[in-house]
Amino acid sequence: MATTELLDKLNSTQSLSIEEYKFLIDKFSAESAAYAAALAVNKRKEVYKNSVFIRGLIEISNICKNDCYYCGIRCSNKKADRYRLSKAQILSCCDSGYSLGFRTFVMQGGEDPYFSDDVMCDIVKSIKEKYSDCAVTLSLGERSKESYQKLFDAGADRYLLRHETADSCHYSRLHPENLTLENRLQCLNNLREIGFQVGCGFMVGSPYQTSEHLAKDLKFIEAFKPDMCGIGPFIPHKDTPFKDFPAGSADLTCYLLSIVRLIHPQVLLPATTALGTVEGKGRERGILSGANVVMPNLSPESTRAKYELYNNKLSTGAESANGLEALKKNLSDIGYQIEISRGDVKK
Ligand code: SAH
Repeated sequence: MATTELLDKLNSTQSLSIEEYKFLIDKFSAESAAYAAALAVNKRKEVYKNSVFIRGLIEISNICKNDCYYCGIRCSNKKADRYRLSKAQILSCCDSGYSLGFRTFVMQGGEDPYFSDDVMCDIVKSIKEKYSDCAVTLSLGERSKESYQKLFDAGADRYLLRHETADSCHYSRLHPENLTLENRLQCLNNLREIGFQVGCGFMVGSPYQTSEHLAKDLKFIEAFKPDMCGIGPFIPHKDTPFKDFPAGSADLTCYLLSIVRLIHPQVLLPATTALGTVEGKGRERGILSGANVVMPNLSPESTRAKYELYNNKLSTGAESANGLEALKKNLSDIGYQIEISRGDVKK
């Protein structure tokens, strides 16, 4: 079977076997990518028209108790210049974000014990009181179900927790022993049960990744049906064990974005900063492959460079909130416009 036939099948059934997903990845070519992108763009237009949702990303802390081998803010990286934002700083990011037109704030950070349930719930409540028309998304890693419940009760709407890889052996090559795929998936299920809009996701081209692993990621997404899905290329960071591995490919990332759009037409799919980092115009290419979300950086200028998950991470220009005008222009050049709204998932 040709990849185009399989993509047609996926387009009409939203489901393939792991072997078929693997075939799509192994036979990846410029033609199959163009074909997948055309189908994916049609699908996203049926659901979300030409609008792109924006999220203001606030990187609240680069202090982390975990030691993920790929990540620049892992606890063993003694060279990282650590910071954490105060509640006042976070609220001031929201203030400027709100006037720029953001109606979703994403608070992301390392697993920093300072941000206990009490501290985090207080911040979430204050944001929701001040901006009742805004959604709050959290991306703070693994916590207990009770903790997630408290954050939800405080008003948080969405939670992003990438599964990173749906293969448990591969998971154990990316993380130290205390972190398991089993617990990740338990967290994702807990978040869903509580009522969050939930996001999973993975890196493309992470060390030791095979096409079979990616096929499992796609099958997992097909089964879990996340509301959001973050997919970006792996990019090495010089002070991590993975410093000598090559970065993942923008082409393959875009192809996978298209496939995920076909699997799950409603999914909120960001064109990630990592995609914009490995390739100029990467984010625009992501949108043209079926993505419908961008997450400009709203963090204070003074801390932006310190949230260094990988080297050369974009943090100025069109991907920063001050660059919103440039982003609008780049998107309108390719036929899309930013929608000022919470941008919830269409059910
Ligand atoms: N502590 C939070 C946020 C982690 S950072 C959590 O655990 O969810 C957000 C995402 O950045 C991670 O899930 C990972 O997929 C991605 N990331 C980390 N290091 C990276 C790297 N070197 N290259 C590309 N993406 C990376």
